[in-house]
Amino acid sequence: MDAATLKRYRKKLADLKAEIVAGGDIDIEPGRADPTAVGSDEDEQPLAEMSQTIASSRNRARAAVLTRVVAALARIDDDPEMYGLCIECEEPIAAKRLDLMPYVELCVECQQAEDGPRKPGGRRHLRDFR
Ligand SMILES: [Zn+2]
Repeated sequence: MDAATLKRYRKKLADLKAEIVAGGDIDIEPGRADPTAVGSDEDEQPLAEMSQTIASSRNRARAAVLTRVVAALARIDDDPEMYGLCIECEEPIAAKRLDLMPYVELCVECQQAEDGPRKPGGRRHLRDFR
C-alpha cells in the first residue's frame, strides 16, 4: 500500500474514532449507515421495544468497532506495512472491504472461517501447505 493510500485510511480511521467517541454511550441514529449491520433487516422493525434491543446491541457493536479502530490506528503507526493485510493469512484485504471497514483485520475468507462453525482441530493455514 502506498503512503497516500495509507494516509487516506488513517484519516478515515481517525474520523471514525472521533465520530464514535462523540456519539457517547447511548445514541440511536437510525439514519446512519452502520457498517456492522450490512445485510441485516433492522429497518423493518418499528417496535420501540425492538429498537431498544437494537440500540443496545448497536452500542455494543460501536464499542467493539471503537476498539478495532484504535487497534488499526496503532497498527498503522507501529507497522504500516502490515496495515491492509489480513492478520491471519497476510494476504491483502480487498480495497472495497477496507473502504467499508478500514479497521477490519481479516480478509473475507478468514472472516468466514472465523464466523463459521468451528471444526475440530481448529483453523488451518493454507500457507503451510504450499
Ligand atoms: Zn486472510
